[in-house]
Amino acid sequence: MKILVVNCGSSSLKYQLIDMDNEGVIAKGLCERIGIDGSKLTHQPAGKDKFVVEKPMPDHHVAIELVLEALQDPEHGVIASTDEITAIGHRVLHAGTKYSDSCLVTDDVKAVIRECFPLGPLHNPANLMGIEACEAAMPGKPNVAVWDTAFGMKMPEKAYMYAIPKEYLEKYSIRRYGFHGTSHMFVSGEAIKFGGLDPEKAKVIVCHLGNGASISASIGGKCVDTSMGLTPLEGLIMGTRSGDIDPAVVQFICNNEGKTVDEVLNILNKKSGVLGMSGVSSDFRDLGAAAEAGNHDAQVALDAFIYRVAKYIGAYTAAMNGVDAIAFTAGVGENDKKTRKAVCAYLGYLGVEIDDEANDVRGKNAVISSANSKVKVMLIPTNEELAIARETLRLVQ
Ligand code: ADP
Repeated sequence: MKILVVNCGSSSLKYQLIDMDNEGVIAKGLCERIGIDGSKLTHQPAGKDKFVVEKPMPDHHVAIELVLEALQDPEHGVIASTDEITAIGHRVLHAGTKYSDSCLVTDDVKAVIRECFPLGPLHNPANLMGIEACEAAMPGKPNVAVWDTAFGMKMPEKAYMYAIPKEYLEKYSIRRYGFHGTSHMFVSGEAIKFGGLDPEKAKVIVCHLGNGASISASIGGKCVDTSMGLTPLEGLIMGTRSGDIDPAVVQFICNNEGKTVDEVLNILNKKSGVLGMSGVSSDFRDLGAAAEAGNHDAQVALDAFIYRVAKYIGAYTAAMNGVDAIAFTAGVGENDKKTRKAVCAYLGYLGVEIDDEANDVRGKNAVISSANSKVKVMLIPTNEELAIARETLRLVQ
């Protein structure tokens, strides 16, 4: 059984065709510059050469048509016809308070995606375009929406409420939602399996550390708390996002620099984080190199990033009254042993002990704590596409 996974951005479309019999990727690819001059599709069939199509893609409908052509291409293709595709799973950013689980796409689901445009102004419109393009190109095939906010919707009220007048929750659904939900769901589930933990009771903290970074606490796979909020701006220090900040900073910059709130929010999203602190880069490899070369600001940015992660781990351990496992994932979490070790250096009070040899690992499931460690520390590579494919299969079976 083959599932097509689609992840649409405003000018991009990423896809993977996954064979659910062995969960292997049969082909994957990316359409870039949709609606812009110079559109390009890069198609990568497993075990074959890459294949690039440079054709105009005025919208996501044309992009999907080209993806389906590439998948069926006599030379570079991997399927004889779209009949081989059982269903399509879509990453959808925001369901507001309406859905807390993946669901088959219906008219109501599409209406909810549209209602939530204000909550996900960059992603939800693109996600809807992707769904409509698949419906048009493959009529009658089931489409499944896998929400990035679903995992965080399981948070209890005390964790999701902002301490602001309740009317704003009631009028505008202003609350904490959390993002990277599919990744947190996948990694916490894999950590429980890989670590041999109790699937009902395991207390797991997942550190998703990439350019976007977030952290979650879950018990038996059910979210207790997660660091991103109404938008992905809250929580950890990220590549270009500030994470937690006193809101008065916004007013102060507006008043002193003659900027609008929107302009300052743009700065907090795109020019802050380790980029803003260091003035060097948002890329953690560049930052590490600069720090090693003696750049003080780069070192402080890295230290602050690690410190914030460690503080959240402390808070989430308290929230769950304990922790059985801590799992690192995403670009930095999967590849950077120094960051993992530096975070864990704060956790001696929890009985965390890293095994340096075991920590010398990249991109594969591994336990990186020593046999004596009171908490299992793991590296679990995230795989949002596979998580979406599994959810899709679960709903169409
Ligand atoms: P996103 O999906 O949010 O764009 P990723 O999860 O792909 O982010 O992570 C990208 C980040 O991972 C980049 O900042 C990159 O520098 C970092 N990264 C990748 N490999 C390494 C490495 N070996 N050491 C440190 N950082 C790394």
